[in-house]
Amino acid sequence: MSIATALQDVQQQMREAAERAGRPASEVRLLLVTKTVAAERVRQAIAAGASELGENKVQEGRPKAAALAGEPVRWAMIGHLQSNKVKEMLDFASSLHSLDRLSLATALERRLQTLGRGLDVLIQVNTSGEASKYGLAPAELPAFLRSLTAFDALRPRGLMTLATFTADQTEVRRCFRLLRSLRDQARNDAPQGADLCELSMGMSGDFPAAIEEGATIVRVGQAVFGARPTPDSFYWPEGDTAAVPPA
Ligand SMILES: *Cc1c(COP(=O)(O)O)cnc(C)c1O
Repeated sequence: MSIATALQDVQQQMREAAERAGRPASEVRLLLVTKTVAAERVRQAIAAGASELGENKVQEGRPKAAALAGEPVRWAMIGHLQSNKVKEMLDFASSLHSLDRLSLATALERRLQTLGRGLDVLIQVNTSGEASKYGLAPAELPAFLRSLTAFDALRPRGLMTLATFTADQTEVRRCFRLLRSLRDQARNDAPQGADLCELSMGMSGDFPAAIEEGATIVRVGQAVFGARPTPDSFYWPEGDTAAVPPA
């Protein structure tokens, strides 16, 4: 299947999931995850209409964004970010989906103040409870959001999560529902509540379910570009080799 066809197929599935949930399709955006995909193949996806792209590693995303300079796209950083990579991250990304600690907020704020710009951020929550996953524990979120009011350059826009890696759809949906209820609660209680619109959840294996549970951004790679040769370290810290969730 060509990249353009696969992209259209994903977009069709997104519309169908929105319809099942009684939501307008325009409420859900596709963030196309381009990690391990060469710039020339990403260019095909851009030609087919992709405009929001995501990378999980600065050392890969920054040169790829540079190779695709001039294309009408915006980049998001979606992976764990070390504070010493903030400067390079801001060279290419206009949003961050993986804000997960105050020390990172501090490093971001300092650099953004120097640059005189702001950054849209999503707060990553560990909804699965797995020790291998990054993100705040759900109970830590309210205090974290209050602390973020001290950082003028950071614009919290919502929450992000990775569901448990399992074929058990009940468990996957439990993660999505938890993120949604945390977002809804924060909307009412947090100082920046009115701005907390986004729910970044759902990947190739589970994005239709995520949309049914309220996702506003789905992060999809393999469903468009094909299976990655290497496993994702956040799923396989022990070096297991499957590249997609068991069906
Ligand atoms: C790789 C990745 C995705 C996309 O995963 P696919 O299986 O390619 O759809 C989504 N979110 C994060 C944080 C990722 O690292």
